[in-house]
Amino acid sequence: MRILYITIGCAKNEVDTDRMRALLTTAGFGEATDVEQADAVIVNTCSFLESATAESIETTLTLAEEIAQGVRSVPIVMCGCVPSRYADEGLADELPEIAAFVRHDEEDGIVEVMRSVLGLEIAPCAPCGVLRTVEGASAFIKISDGCNRFCSFCAIPYIRGRYASRPLDELLAEARALLEGGVRELVLIGQDTGIWGSDFDTPSSLAELLRAMDAVAAPYGAWIRVLYLQPEGMTDELIAAIRDLPCVLPYIDIPIQHCSERILKRMNRKGSPQQLRELFARLRAEIPGMVLRSTAMAGFPGETDEDAEELEQFLVEQSFDYCSVFAFSPEDGTYAAKLDGQVPEDVKLERTQRLIDIAEQSGFSATASHVGEVCNVIIDGVEQDGDGFELIGHTWFQAPDSDGVVHIEEGEASVGDIVRVELIDSFCYEMVGRIITEG
Ligand code: SF4
Repeated sequence: MRILYITIGCAKNEVDTDRMRALLTTAGFGEATDVEQADAVIVNTCSFLESATAESIETTLTLAEEIAQGVRSVPIVMCGCVPSRYADEGLADELPEIAAFVRHDEEDGIVEVMRSVLGLEIAPCAPCGVLRTVEGASAFIKISDGCNRFCSFCAIPYIRGRYASRPLDELLAEARALLEGGVRELVLIGQDTGIWGSDFDTPSSLAELLRAMDAVAAPYGAWIRVLYLQPEGMTDELIAAIRDLPCVLPYIDIPIQHCSERILKRMNRKGSPQQLRELFARLRAEIPGMVLRSTAMAGFPGETDEDAEELEQFLVEQSFDYCSVFAFSPEDGTYAAKLDGQVPEDVKLERTQRLIDIAEQSGFSATASHVGEVCNVIIDGVEQDGDGFELIGHTWFQAPDSDGVVHIEEGEASVGDIVRVELIDSFCYEMVGRIITEG
């Protein structure tokens, strides 16, 4: 029985799909690369934004239509955020094409679900020996799920529930399995990675996890990267761990969303421009040469022209290496969707564009500042380039799937290799390099 996996949304969803794939592979299911070969389809959905929910449902319906046109009866199973958010609101009646809905916290039971929809005898699952099925040199590890922050614009706490850290032993076992399988970069993700361990009976910390992970990664010469930290999670202990542990990259990702104290309060987030300034100054002083990524949101309800300008000035001043920009989207069931002072769509888009322009100006020149450096590059794959092909990789200052890549113009290597590369040029967020052999 072969299953086609379709994932919509962020890296956290990719990890969940991979976990289901690992469970199903262990239970004897194969994988299909297209619907023609598939006996069943799993669509792992995203519902972070209204547009993601729409994309998830459209993808599923298009698939159902394709299957119907081919007159094949291939069950579709919808997993993840859409069922988690809407299962209690009559989703099954609205989408009769779907054979089963699996909420995010039911995904460990995916083998039983697939056996049931395929009419196979339900047998107990053998112990799962395969933890992940990642191919390639970088792998995401989800260290927690859920979130307790309840930012007023965000539906995640309602979809994924309260913050829950994954146990240390489980994370280290997953890291070891990935490294043994050839992975050379572990990217730690979660909704709020900085508070990992704080919910344990005996509380722990992200710094403690990084120290343990560093010991596991060191024999393989692997990299550890942490994404999705929050400003308040940046303790002295964590800053020291990122600075001092040899495998942990000096790459810091802290979404700010806004800098105006008034808007941050309406967002149910803490902080002020001064506190954010102090934090970034402290990080730059403590971890020289680090790379800083952030996220900013335009057009939050109540944002005045002055607030928008304050945020623009803040981005100019901080000159982040990377900054993702989003326009506020009023999400069903969130507090911010009902707030007064909703910003007209055209104003929101203008403000978003201005922030994007600033982010690009800073980001492109930060990228260009690396020209001339020689650094290690992980080879991720091969891409068509005109009539030929070129190797694609990424450096310590480029997070996979978020930032730019290195286009290798000269030299040979295989996917998964870590090679020395001279960075000879850049364009936008992309670098151009050539592999060098050091004597
Ligand atoms: S920190 Fe805020 S934006 Fe991020 S997942 Fe939690 S509630 Fe949502």
